[in-house]
Amino acid sequence: MKFGLLGRKLGHSYSPQIHELIGHYAYGLFEREPDQIEQLLRQEDIAGLNVTIPYKKDVIPYLDAVDPLAKRLGSVNTIVRKADGTLHGHNTDYDGFLSMVKHYGLSVADKKVLVLGTGGASVTAVAVMQDLGGHVVTISRTGENNYQNLSRHADASIIVNTTPVGMYPNNGAAPLDVGLFPHLEGVLDLIYNPSKTQLILDCEARNIPAFNGLWMLVAQAKKAAEYFIGQPLADQITCDIYEKLRRQMENIVLIGMAGCGKSTIGRILAEKCGRNFVDADEELVKLAGKSIPEIFAQDGEDAFRNLETQVLSDLGKQSGLVIATGGGCVTKERNYPLLHQNGIIIWIQRDAKALPTDGRPLSQQNDPAVLYESRKPMYAAFSDKTVVNDGTCEETAEKILALWEELS
Ligand code: NAP
Repeated sequence: MKFGLLGRKLGHSYSPQIHELIGHYAYGLFEREPDQIEQLLRQEDIAGLNVTIPYKKDVIPYLDAVDPLAKRLGSVNTIVRKADGTLHGHNTDYDGFLSMVKHYGLSVADKKVLVLGTGGASVTAVAVMQDLGGHVVTISRTGENNYQNLSRHADASIIVNTTPVGMYPNNGAAPLDVGLFPHLEGVLDLIYNPSKTQLILDCEARNIPAFNGLWMLVAQAKKAAEYFIGQPLADQITCDIYEKLRRQMENIVLIGMAGCGKSTIGRILAEKCGRNFVDADEELVKLAGKSIPEIFAQDGEDAFRNLETQVLSDLGKQSGLVIATGGGCVTKERNYPLLHQNGIIIWIQRDAKALPTDGRPLSQQNDPAVLYESRKPMYAAFSDKTVVNDGTCEETAEKILALWEELS
């Protein structure tokens, strides 16, 4: 019997991994065109399906029964074949989003809730928020309440983003300015890639609690699995799988002075945790087609910094990497969100006297100790944690690994 995900384009789906971690059945991907849906649903070896964009409505006519919640939402994301062969439709996005609201402890009753977007996920978010007693307003680009008259809703307490604005690969875009809402108590962004969308980063800067949609994704899958196997699963499963995926997606970003050991330590660390390693300076050299001393000599430091930001913008969007950065990346504040959106940032500290200067234009022009002093506040502002490299690179990599385990 087969279980899996039905959709049109499924390249980057996390569902197979989540269901594999739940562990009760094999789970595949069924990429189908609209005229192939009926044939798939008629296959008797299909025991259960999740359904994603754009078929959550399209499957309904082929089902023998649709539960009241899925009927109310007009959307089915889970189909189960019963022992008598009939197909039953459910909606577990509702359970996933409800679980997310509860997990993050948002109090919704009598609060004004803005739901951005009017697509499938919006219908689910609106239903949950209304059921929890929220006063919901949907914001649509073309609706009565739109992005031009947001000031009407300056009293909003909660914002839920159900638009794809800010989602990979269009990182860095935000659907609105959170500064317009002085009473905000929490923001839920259904996007989970990047881990911190621009909307979440903007909230972080204002100390507004804000959370991504990974919890919802895992919680809806757990509920779907319960329908598939016909019995409840422990709640702890959601938490365990969420943590595993969150860690797996996180980049480990190494910052510190040129020569502090970032590249060597990064390679060892990547090997130890089975990740890919990327050296931002090596990527920059590839992009420029010349060495770093040549870039400085021919084009100047500004040109170098612009190339560096371009490289970090690309690397920071990716997931699950160990990234060694150039020593001066912290001199540009714009690089912080690029590295922070998906990463934990570790500052590798090393005694200035031990820093080599060969092949490093700025370290050759300036006394490394003076340069280090001037940059210390910048490294401190960028970093989540610090590690002192006063032993072997192997030992420092071990320290970082231990720190990361402790943080996660
Ligand atoms: P959808 O049906 O395409 O709806 C998205 C809505 O966003 C549209 O109806 C549109 O509303 C608005 N929108 C689209 N492009 C926009 C733009 N450039 N600027 C402003 N608004 C825009 O998609 P969906 O299925 O609801 O999914 C929406 C998002 O939620 C996706 O990022 C998806 O990955 C995420 N999601 C996450 C989970 C989870 O488990 N975490 C579950 C479902 C969905 P208007 O035209 O009215 O403005």
